[in-house]
Amino acid sequence: MKVKPFKNEPIQNFNDKKIHAKQAEALEAVCKKLGKTYEIMIGGKKVKTDSKLNSYNPSNKTEVVASFYKGTKELADRAIREAAKKFAQWKLVPAVERAAILFRAAEIARRRRFEINAWMIYEAGKNFVEADADTAEAIDFMEFYAREMLRYADKQPITPVKGEENELVYIPLGVGVVVPPWNFPFAILVGMSSAAIVTGNTVVLKPSSDTPMMGRLYYEIMQEAGLPAGVLNFMPGSGNEVGDTLVSHPLTRFVSFTGSMEVGIHINKLAAEVQPGQKWLKRVVAEMGGKDSIIVDSETNVDEAVKGVVTSAFGFQGQKCSACSRAIVDAKVYNEFVKKLKDMVSKLEVGSATDNVAIGPVINDSARKNILSYIEKGKKESRLLVGGEAADGEGFFIKPTVFVDVKPEAKISQEEIFGPVLAVIKARNFDNALEIANNTQYGLTGAVFTDNREKLEKAKEHFFVGNLYFNRKCTGALVGGHPFGGFNMSGTDSKAGGRDYLLLFMQAKAISEKV
Ligand code: NAP
Ligand code: MG
Repeated sequence: MKVKPFKNEPIQNFNDKKIHAKQAEALEAVCKKLGKTYEIMIGGKKVKTDSKLNSYNPSNKTEVVASFYKGTKELADRAIREAAKKFAQWKLVPAVERAAILFRAAEIARRRRFEINAWMIYEAGKNFVEADADTAEAIDFMEFYAREMLRYADKQPITPVKGEENELVYIPLGVGVVVPPWNFPFAILVGMSSAAIVTGNTVVLKPSSDTPMMGRLYYEIMQEAGLPAGVLNFMPGSGNEVGDTLVSHPLTRFVSFTGSMEVGIHINKLAAEVQPGQKWLKRVVAEMGGKDSIIVDSETNVDEAVKGVVTSAFGFQGQKCSACSRAIVDAKVYNEFVKKLKDMVSKLEVGSATDNVAIGPVINDSARKNILSYIEKGKKESRLLVGGEAADGEGFFIKPTVFVDVKPEAKISQEEIFGPVLAVIKARNFDNALEIANNTQYGLTGAVFTDNREKLEKAKEHFFVGNLYFNRKCTGALVGGHPFGGFNMSGTDSKAGGRDYLLLFMQAKAISEKV
């Protein structure tokens, strides 16, 4: 198969009135489809159960986006068994054919782009550009992993041995349980599932209970692209209720998880127990939380730094694992930074995602409560600069909030809040800033704003994060260009969107023949 080199899908410019209008039309069209009920899909068959799970619009909290029959423990068991049966066939399908399905799926997602964005705007509360970037990233993952599969399916380099003909081939693992989060409801779900499928595994996908519709769209797209029934099984349901059955099942070969540290630790532990009848140690990929810092050095353009911090801290309401939740600012520029930051944050508009404002809602009521409780903690621990309360409206709105003079050890400086809350910390100098940046249990993203080359070199050496950025925001990793994954409690550093990623879904077989 001949393919063009991978290129990132461009993000659309919604300042262009025509493009904006297309998105608005798609929102209207999708609005007419809200509130429908969808089945669980096991082995290509629709399954209904006694109870349902509703996905709500966080901008308008009583509006049901879609309803799903809710998975049970019994169905979780059935889904894994069906996937195990299907694996016997799917693993024999040549890599070229598997890759071709992803290329077709990427094309379908391109065609349905505004529609996918629209569902995401309703279901997750992303504004237009955040939703479009998410869909673009999903397309990138499919295009990138399809090419990667072709590379791994090619002849692999191996040292010649006299009198033998040797080869090394990559084969799939088996049944994978894929558990994505709601915050990149399409991109991460599509990336994790597509990587597992293209490498020849079969999958039970349990979408986040906040954004199951995005999983349903992926399911539809993969069927249309020609994926045989049963390779992908779609199982909405509460993580608490069906999660343990899926993870601990003796036929489960690997678990691919992205979400919170607490759930990641739980899954890792449970997967480590060998069940009766289980013939392998399960592989667990767990990408978890972050508490990401941007260092603002004294030798930098403060305006640029403020822009970078605001974009990283408040894009999608700070609900990104990569979001900047701590700005660590050199004492020499601290006052200037704080003043300019206040000006910029005060101007951010809060409102419904469908109105495409800068700051939409947070995902659900428990997130809202949790974030507001951190804000109350922040008021006790440090000084509130701007925001600090809920905002009016029918959704889960919180004003973008900044605390200043935050101590490096304070709770709001250490724990992942996952909302529009930024802690500003004063550093004595650059070395002190680096020390503070490394003082959490996480290690996902980070950025440094400085014009000083030596300081950048020092940061390369000492800033302990999986994704480090210089003189730019710390969010918006691109597939291929910024392979993504974190250190320490941020996860297993799987580097999604990088050349090593597919290896996590395969095992290598060395074959040697005497000639
Ligand atoms: P979460 O609460 O941990 O949930 C993630 C997924 O795990 C959901 O599908 C959830 O299902 C499921 N789950 C819950 N309990 C489970 C169990 N016992 N067994 C199996 N699955 C279970 O995380 P989230 O709120 O969706 O996402 C936000 C978190 O993800 C943040 O911490 C963020 O930093 C992290 N994140 C990390 C990355 C990265 O690349 N490092 C990327 C994005 C997000 P239910 O929805 O049904 O509970
Ligand atoms: Mg919702």
